[in-house]
Amino acid sequence: MVIATGLKQQVQIGSTQLLINNKWVESVSGKRFETINPATGEVICDLAEAEARDVDRAVEAARKAFTTGDWRQMSATRRGELLYKLADLIEQNQEELARIETLDNGKPLNESLNVDLPLVVSIYRYYAGWADKIQGKTIPVNGSYFCYTRHEPVGVVGMIIPWNFPLVLQAVKMAPALATGNTLILKPAEQTPLSALRIGELILEAGFPPGVVNILPGYGPTVGGAIANHLDIDKVTFTGSVEVGRQILSAAANSNLKRVTYHLSGKSPNIVFADADLEQAIEGAHLALFFNQGQVCTAGSRLFVEEKCYDEFVAKSVARAKQRRVGDPFDPKTEQGPQIDKTQFDKIRHYIRSGVDGGAKLLCGGERVGDRGYFIQPTVFADVQNQMEIAQEEIFGPVMSIIKFRDLDDVIKQANATPYGLASAVWTKDIAKMHAIASGIRAGTVWVNCYGVLDPAAPAGGFKQSGVGRELGEYGLQQYTEIKTVTVKL
Ligand code: ADP
Ligand code: MG
Repeated sequence: MVIATGLKQQVQIGSTQLLINNKWVESVSGKRFETINPATGEVICDLAEAEARDVDRAVEAARKAFTTGDWRQMSATRRGELLYKLADLIEQNQEELARIETLDNGKPLNESLNVDLPLVVSIYRYYAGWADKIQGKTIPVNGSYFCYTRHEPVGVVGMIIPWNFPLVLQAVKMAPALATGNTLILKPAEQTPLSALRIGELILEAGFPPGVVNILPGYGPTVGGAIANHLDIDKVTFTGSVEVGRQILSAAANSNLKRVTYHLSGKSPNIVFADADLEQAIEGAHLALFFNQGQVCTAGSRLFVEEKCYDEFVAKSVARAKQRRVGDPFDPKTEQGPQIDKTQFDKIRHYIRSGVDGGAKLLCGGERVGDRGYFIQPTVFADVQNQMEIAQEEIFGPVMSIIKFRDLDDVIKQANATPYGLASAVWTKDIAKMHAIASGIRAGTVWVNCYGVLDPAAPAGGFKQSGVGRELGEYGLQQYTEIKTVTVKL
């Protein structure tokens, strides 16, 4: 199916059905739902809407694939080869995948193509290499016994992901789960189901056996809820909001105590000391907040600036934000596309009003751009206080909040005064300050003189209410294996 975006671009859409047991099928109910192009607000296409009965079908296929058949028997080396094949296929189709992502999500094509897609390919290659290196230990126990551990797959894994990085997040979850021999059911976000379905086609082309990967687009409370409650799913991994994270945890607790790992919201401190290279810090802080329309869980959304350089930093940050190019995400010069949907658009505008009402100084932006789609001007607030709503709640939009601080102790205290602990950054040339921040901040990531650097080998995840478990890297494998202890009498 070829879709005209209304933005002088054509995008080829793949299947619009559910992927169950390596077959494209309609949902049991026959229902379909629509996904929109956030740049125009227009419907892109409709697609099969999964519900609880479709989850049952997918779980049955995934359980069978986990218990018997080709996947169960497959050597670890062969599993790795399949993942390498998938990475190659994604790379060969990267232009097309990037266009689908930009059409459905609104992120600039430049970024889909040059940031998201290369990361997806590298994540699959990274975990392809791990497939035949999943090994236990031999343990010297007391007495006449031989004791060893096996790292076995957890089983059938449910994966619920959000809309801000649809391709990247499916790779972050699927690659390690497949490398370690699990089978899975992926539920993409209802706002951005299209790229996952294209990946499903590549899964078939790569040659994964039936039932290993099942893909069920649909809504959170229905298909997501059915996954979280299912009695025959061994584990759920979730990325999204705190509220939904709570619901999934409680569904797991009230069903079969399935394992749950989750990666939730953040309100990450980005700390600039006066001794930093200010030009680098200004550009770094700009991207830390505005990248991906501000729709990043690790966004540097509390920007702490030392009082000695505060006025200069604020003035230059405002100038940079005013230069930011907002518009058609398919235009190669565009830096900022639309927000994902009307709900987010309204929520962000609520927070902008809240910033003004709460007494923060609005220095630029704050308004809608154009009269269709969900574009918002790059917005900068200065003189924000850490206890204001805009400094405590996740805005998930292009709204920068700058907070003044006095010294090291003051900033560590303020930076940690949040229920979240996902990421943080510090800009300084002083190694003592750098290390004090690196050990003082309660967060899963600390970037020093950089922001948002991600690598397949480096773990990411949250302290406090930002999450449980780590994704990526060797640590990311722990989510997808159970440790079995075998003790043999000699
Ligand atoms: P965001 O606020 O970023 O949209 P959400 O937490 O609302 O994040 O959604 C993330 C994912 O969780 C989406 O795939 C969504 O459909 C799913 N989801 C939403 N509500 C539920 C629920 N009650 N149970 C399971 N999954 C849900
Ligand atoms: Mg969409």
